[in-house]
Amino acid sequence: MPEMDGVEVIAELARRNSQAKIIITSGIGGRVLDAAGRTAAERGLHIVGILPKPFTPASLRDLLARCAPDAIDGKHVSDFREAHAANHKLAPRELEEAIATHALHVCYQPKVSCKTGMLSGFEALARWTHPQRGIIPPDEFIPLAETNGLIDALTIEVMTQAMAWYRSFSTELKYLEHPDAVLPDADRLSLSVNISALSLSNTQIFDKLTLMCSEYDIEPENLILELTETSAMEDPVLSLELLTRLRLRGFRLSIDDFGTGYSSMVQLVKLPFSEIKVDKSFVITARESEESRAVIKSIVSLGMSLGLIITAEGIEDEDTQVFLRNIGCTLAQGYLFAHPLPGDDVMPWLMTRGAGLEHRRLRSLTTLSLLDSPSEQRFDALIRLANGLFDMPMSAFALVDTERLWFKSRTGSMPPAVLRASSFCNYTIERNCSSVINDTLAEKEFARNPLVVNAPHIRFYAGSPVHAADDSVIGTMILLDTRPRDFSDMELEALQKLAVMVEKELYVHPDERMDSTTRLFNHQATELRVPQVLELASLVGVPCTLHVFEVLNLEPGPNNEAGKKAHYVLTAFARILAECHGDIDFLGRFDTDKFVGLLIRPNDKQETLARWKLTSAVLAHNQSALPELAIQYRLGTAHTQPDGNYHFQSLLDRADLSRPAL
Ligand code: C2E
Ligand code: MG
Ligand code: MG
Repeated sequence: MPEMDGVEVIAELARRNSQAKIIITSGIGGRVLDAAGRTAAERGLHIVGILPKPFTPASLRDLLARCAPDAIDGKHVSDFREAHAANHKLAPRELEEAIATHALHVCYQPKVSCKTGMLSGFEALARWTHPQRGIIPPDEFIPLAETNGLIDALTIEVMTQAMAWYRSFSTELKYLEHPDAVLPDADRLSLSVNISALSLSNTQIFDKLTLMCSEYDIEPENLILELTETSAMEDPVLSLELLTRLRLRGFRLSIDDFGTGYSSMVQLVKLPFSEIKVDKSFVITARESEESRAVIKSIVSLGMSLGLIITAEGIEDEDTQVFLRNIGCTLAQGYLFAHPLPGDDVMPWLMTRGAGLEHRRLRSLTTLSLLDSPSEQRFDALIRLANGLFDMPMSAFALVDTERLWFKSRTGSMPPAVLRASSFCNYTIERNCSSVINDTLAEKEFARNPLVVNAPHIRFYAGSPVHAADDSVIGTMILLDTRPRDFSDMELEALQKLAVMVEKELYVHPDERMDSTTRLFNHQATELRVPQVLELASLVGVPCTLHVFEVLNLEPGPNNEAGKKAHYVLTAFARILAECHGDIDFLGRFDTDKFVGLLIRPNDKQETLARWKLTSAVLAHNQSALPELAIQYRLGTAHTQPDGNYHFQSLLDRADLSRPAL
């Protein structure tokens, strides 16, 4: 340079087989730099990083640190391997023998939930321990197997080993008692196996697989067959037929290395995949490359719109994990969580990780300082809301400790706490998903539960997890009944929304929601909650009544005489209101002189009674108070229909305040 441009320099360095570590920098813009970086990497150069100008000393320092001679350096490992490979060319005969003598073995790389970090399954990856060359990676021997007619034998060998391991691993996990670790559901762990494009036309291999599933007692749904994008798309018509047959047998199908092939969206939509795996070349570079992030985002949104599970492989750093979680990626696989592990190392890994997750969960719970704290109106109001919405005799917000389920808020005849081991919530917590038991007596697992057999004789349970800010599950929102009942999808959605409302309260200071004068919910809380309640009510299909109470002739002001009077009248009215409408689902001070009450499933008798109680309580107050401290108020009411969508503001407008109530 400057006779050559940067791209030419890169080409020249590659031609000379340069071993130098290279940092590419320019002011030309991130996308061009990215492209230059990829060209260089494709030419086999060792690119340490890309540094768009202007750059900070810290980012340069960071890259230079990565160039230090003792920095772990994948390229040198592969150089070393290549040097040996040059001396020993693999012969097909050796591979054939390796397959026959079980010299191939399988490693298992965990896949975890992007959101919670919980283990979701494994990918089986083949390894070959060669007597002279040591461990040979699959990228070298899979092509050898494919070109020498050995691939089916290899696939069957890998599957046999993987399925035997999976059976013993999940059995061990099922019967494991480990109170200090969050452990996944052994019956739901998936096992992914890579299938070569060449095996796709060999249906015998899939017959064998079906047989093996019953031999090892593995549900076909737990098995994921990974096909690379190119292999699946080579002959779309044939693929469609074959893949559909595999799906019909119950296997799940995954499209591996997505983003590297040329499949069109149309082809993808047509083929019956259940999972899409974002190619690791994008994921590994996500932290540095805006372009990679854009590709990942578009794959994730494509997968989401098709309702597929989206797995990102090649996650090596936390920034990338956070990025993936934020854009809605489902599962994560990469060195950040675990390298591919020999079968025997998986359980110790899981124990350490599970203990870490439980530790993190408990730490988030402790940070909230809610355990064993007094009851609070903001949570109690949500629990009452649950009762009203679902017409439930019991509901609760439970926090889950090491051993107990402690109720921060509860209604009905619930005890203050129950043992975690015998709670229904353990199920919701460990699986981190909402669960419904329509009739506890009909489920073997729960029929003998002490809470079913003894008081409160629970027959129905619905629970939704409540997450802390770091996404760990710290508790549940629970509905309970002593009768079996149906629970619609809409109701479940409403319950999940209630759990999210609880989550939103966790980090809010209680004072932020309350009006300091009246101790009712304040304007902000009213504006937040009333629309939420209206939405939930319309989801569940129940009507509501909105009351607006306006206190008249107030002159609220600073600390003068009029201000003091107004304060007195307002607090007196708020107290009376709360007493007379004790069972209302929401009560808040909306304006200086306005209060809003919301009633779910209004009942004429109850309303007339409340209105009468309010009128007489105000009269009684006025009789004993000085004339200038008498309460005068107006009441306006608006009703909603069960299936309508209502805006808070339009209901406020409809609540006619023209008639004086007293
Ligand atoms: P793949 O199916 O896409 O597997 C993922 C590869 O990414 C694995 O490489 C894994 O070790 C690697 N990987 C995972 N996380 C990270 C990470 O954070 N950083 C980096 N740099 N790499 C990561 P591996 O085991 O070398 O396998 C390479 C490929 O060989 C596999 O790609 C798969 O296509 C093929 N393969 C492996 N086992 C089998 C097999 O039993 N049958 C067939 N047909 N192909 C196999
Ligand atoms: Mg794979
Ligand atoms: Mg892949």
